[in-house]
Amino acid sequence: MTDGSTPPADQMQQLQAQLAAALAEVAHLKEKLDAALDGTGICIWQGRPQSGDLTVFNYQNFEIGDMAPHFGLWLAKLHPHDKQAVLDNYYAHLAGKTPCYEAVYRTLTPDGSVCWLWDRGRVVERDDAGQPLRILGAHRDITLEKEHEAQLAMQARLDPLTGLANRRGLLDFLKSIDRRGGSYALAMVDVDHFKQFNDLHGHDIGDRVLIAIARSLSAPLSDYDLCGRWGGEEFLLVLGNADMAAANDVIVQLHQAVQRLTVSSGEQDLSTTVSIGLTVHQPGENFDEVLLRADRALLSAKRKGRNMVCRR
Ligand code: GH3
Ligand code: MG
Ligand code: MG
Repeated sequence: MTDGSTPPADQMQQLQAQLAAALAEVAHLKEKLDAALDGTGICIWQGRPQSGDLTVFNYQNFEIGDMAPHFGLWLAKLHPHDKQAVLDNYYAHLAGKTPCYEAVYRTLTPDGSVCWLWDRGRVVERDDAGQPLRILGAHRDITLEKEHEAQLAMQARLDPLTGLANRRGLLDFLKSIDRRGGSYALAMVDVDHFKQFNDLHGHDIGDRVLIAIARSLSAPLSDYDLCGRWGGEEFLLVLGNADMAAANDVIVQLHQAVQRLTVSSGEQDLSTTVSIGLTVHQPGENFDEVLLRADRALLSAKRKGRNMVCRR
């Protein structure tokens, strides 16, 4: 055959059969790969760093057009917050400094929504000078996981009974104000004789009272404020940018609103009162000091007879 002559017919037939079997095997392998990748969100890609070409091999988890066919277009769709970290990781791998490229980032889809990807790749071919010719990798759409993660993080900062921020959420809020150097007023609110209330009317009615108080305390607040459940029957109000006079106006009104609250139990309309300790952040203080003062003010309110606001 090397002399250019055609192989004998039986040999041709044999070669054609081998080719057909090889093609069938390739098609079967592709079917198996597609079946394995279906629904996983995994998408296999290949990049040619020297030309910038990008190819996607399986589209069943990705819309055509989602994947930019060129490095420059992929780059343009990267979320600005993630871009630098992704590129640092990518170029470190191309330079042979790391065994693989791996990054988690946000990218824009053609409909303008944000999609989270986990992306990983490895140089599979270099030229004689060691420059990368081909990088092969896979990315996976992790948008749902990220949404779930964000939901869990949010839930971890919420009190399930009242739906308000819990102590963790409140502390995060206070820390963020401290970092910004903002000022604020703090009001520590504690339900009076609540143990006795529970004993008399039952824990379930007690829960309904806590929910009603939570609603009443949080309803009139602005975006700069936060009302949360500090624990048990204690609530904490953070009033952003408020001085003592402004905070006092808000807190006196809230105190009165709680006094007007009733929760029905059978024929009865039940009510409770709260004691409140109010204080204002002083320049240079961190939130621990402010909390301590609010707590002391609350203690004064309790000692003086409850159902009142004390200031410190
Ligand atoms: P004080 O006026 O001094 O604050 O008296 P108190 O009875 O409110 O204070 P104490 O600390 O002795 O009791 C707090 C009560 O709050 C006891 C506890 O059962 C009740 N409590 C805490 N968390 C919950 C809750 O989630 N639901 C209900 N129903 N009660 C709760
Ligand atoms: Mg208490
Ligand atoms: Mg109490």
